[in-house]
Amino acid sequence: MKKKVAKLTLVSALSISSIVAYTATTSPAYAQTSLNELNEEKSNIENKQNDVKSKLNDSSNKLSDIHSEQESVETEIQRLNTSISSTQVKITEKKEQISTTKEEVEKLEKQIKEVTARIEKRNELLKERARSYQQTGGMVNYLDVLMGSQSFSDFIDRVGAVATIVEADQSIIKEQEADKKLLEQSQADLKSKLNSLETMLDDLETLNSKLNSEKKEKDTLMAQLNEEENHVQAEMLSLEEEEQLLKDQEVAMEKAIQLEKERQAELARKAAEAKAAAERTAAQKASSSKSSSSKTATSTSSSSGNTSQSVSKPSTSVSSGNFTRPAGAGYLSSGLGQRWGTFHAGVDIAATGTVPIYAAADGVVISSYPSDSYGQVIFISHYIDGQEYTTVYAHMRKGSRLVNAGDTVSKGQRIGTMGNTGDSTGQHLHFELHKGPWNPAKSNAINPIGIVPL
Ligand SMILES: [Zn+2]
Repeated sequence: MKKKVAKLTLVSALSISSIVAYTATTSPAYAQTSLNELNEEKSNIENKQNDVKSKLNDSSNKLSDIHSEQESVETEIQRLNTSISSTQVKITEKKEQISTTKEEVEKLEKQIKEVTARIEKRNELLKERARSYQQTGGMVNYLDVLMGSQSFSDFIDRVGAVATIVEADQSIIKEQEADKKLLEQSQADLKSKLNSLETMLDDLETLNSKLNSEKKEKDTLMAQLNEEENHVQAEMLSLEEEEQLLKDQEVAMEKAIQLEKERQAELARKAAEAKAAAERTAAQKASSSKSSSSKTATSTSSSSGNTSQSVSKPSTSVSSGNFTRPAGAGYLSSGLGQRWGTFHAGVDIAATGTVPIYAAADGVVISSYPSDSYGQVIFISHYIDGQEYTTVYAHMRKGSRLVNAGDTVSKGQRIGTMGNTGDSTGQHLHFELHKGPWNPAKSNAINPIGIVPL
């Protein structure tokens, strides 16, 4: 810890000039107010350290809520899966029954056709016989047969024979008609069975599609819950992490306060120098015009302005406003706001390939470390026009962080590479902008859209 402070002091001393340069346009009275604000913010941070535990508890509660909801949805999905597979079995059974019944119906159809053909053939034979009776005198021939009897007993025999022939023909036809009726009845029964099977199949298929759409809904819900879980985890820093972050932020802010004090002293010294110089010039050149002394004063402030320009312009693609875009490429894949019941405290910018990440504005690095949730992450404290801002750059590529806690960074300075580390699904930059210091509740998070070019 001592070593760290010593290092920070050294860094502070080295970077005074640039800080002085970039805040040189601020008047001393205004800076004094800003100093008070900074002190106030520092004590706010100290208070907020006490909130860390309750915030973590909240997140834990939220996570266990999500987990129990996931369990109940999982149970529902299991139930639906069981229903779907039993419905599938029933559908297969019904389909098999339907095809068997159809085969039977076809078989009967064939039999009916055969019987019908036989009946037709026999009818044809009988008709032929009837025609031959007519042609040859029909019943007369029967009579001839009977009349030709040798004796009465022969006559009886002949009558019997004729009757037998006629009866036999008729009984065969009757039997065949009965067979046909039976077959037709069976076929009708089978057809009605087929109808009811098809109705059952329809019902089962309706049930099946209903179950499937229900399952689809549950799957969607489950996916949302998983996303939500990831997101809560992605935003949930460990207790140690939050405490360290608040301490680091305090250090960075102390550095900012120190720099501000030194800048004020420097400004006062310069102002006194300028005043003395002006007085000397006025005394020496009592006869000359007053314009030369005012020129001296003007040149002091304008040269400071130039220094500021050269410090904060390391790259040509840097925006001219207070902030520049933090990602070298990408599209806004998720905005700030409520998402699946949780608050998304930043924006996501997604892109593929090697995408540089830049400091969005001049500032002091609060923290630069690998987080379980945020992955490779950098926190930066900024002081712009008397207002403190904090920016967060999460999920960067492993081994890509280029700055460390306490470093002074300038707007557009490359600090890393876009990645997919920590609780992240797909390469993207999770970027947060806080008006004021970062706090565990993220209550200072504001929408960067319209403030930071994205
Ligand atoms: Zn995000």
